[in-house]
Amino acid sequence: MRESSLLLHVYGQNAALPARVSLPPGDDMGAVRFDPGGGGDAEVLVAVDQLADGVHVDVAHTSLSQVGRKAVTRNLSDVAAMAAVPLAAVVAACLPRDFGQSRAEALFDSLRRAAAAFDCPLIGGDIAMWDHPLLLSVTVLARPEPGIAPVKRSGAAEGDLLYVTGRLGGSLIELHGYTHHLDFEPRLHVARRLAAVCRPSAMIDLSDGMAADLPRLLAASGDLVAQVELAQLPISEAAQVAAAGSGRPPWQHAMGDGEDYELLFTVDPAQARRHLPESIEGVPVTRIGRVRKRLNPDEPPLLLMDEEGQVHPLDSTGWEHAGT
Ligand SMILES: [Mg+2]
Repeated sequence: MRESSLLLHVYGQNAALPARVSLPPGDDMGAVRFDPGGGGDAEVLVAVDQLADGVHVDVAHTSLSQVGRKAVTRNLSDVAAMAAVPLAAVVAACLPRDFGQSRAEALFDSLRRAAAAFDCPLIGGDIAMWDHPLLLSVTVLARPEPGIAPVKRSGAAEGDLLYVTGRLGGSLIELHGYTHHLDFEPRLHVARRLAAVCRPSAMIDLSDGMAADLPRLLAASGDLVAQVELAQLPISEAAQVAAAGSGRPPWQHAMGDGEDYELLFTVDPAQARRHLPESIEGVPVTRIGRVRKRLNPDEPPLLLMDEEGQVHPLDSTGWEHAGT
């Protein structure tokens, strides 16, 4: 089974949804509009993410505070991708029967602490016991920042410049006591600042790796191709370490390792020139390429321009959680 074809099957039913659905399946969060009373109009965004032992985290070799934190921050990265503001979260936990009372309490304390640290209080949930590894499903609610409509995946246009926050690759590597896929900071403030200063035309957070996530943004926006400049890619120190171990070039780790939880976004060139800073709150904002119309239906969506100016079509080397 392919995750991507299952999702297309789901998105195929979007047109049948009621009018109050302002963001149907296919973006980082869904959203509905409602009248909060008094004839106004409010919008609430919602998303759910799972953290499965053996898939997204290795519980035997990870502290419970990191497990709980990641279950929350994965979701908050989706809130950041919409440039929205977290409101509250609920968690559904399936605990292995032998997990133990004190470890379960420590896990829930870490979930609560992580959520509170981002002003996204944990306000409920459900607990079950089962004979399988730990599974945490966190649902997060969010609202738009006043005056800032949620930034979708679908607004990129011909000629827009392509940007990324932070540095990419090597998220599983522990370096200087920091392991990115566990300890990353969801880009909530950076995203809202971006939306306030330059209004990205489209945005997504990098969970599966740029090679997998960038084609999702392009597909949502229409028939577009992205040309990424290798020389501009912000490659992390951890990606260099990963490359030394794997024998593959560092850029492949930056494009394909996944779990960067950085923001990938497009901006109109005039907007970018006038308003886009080189960093926000110490987080670098790097132009890595541009998007254009697809020349023919067979053209792959992702092109990489090497340091000699040669253009190479790139495979999706990001992984799909649902397997093959
Ligand atoms: Mg996302």
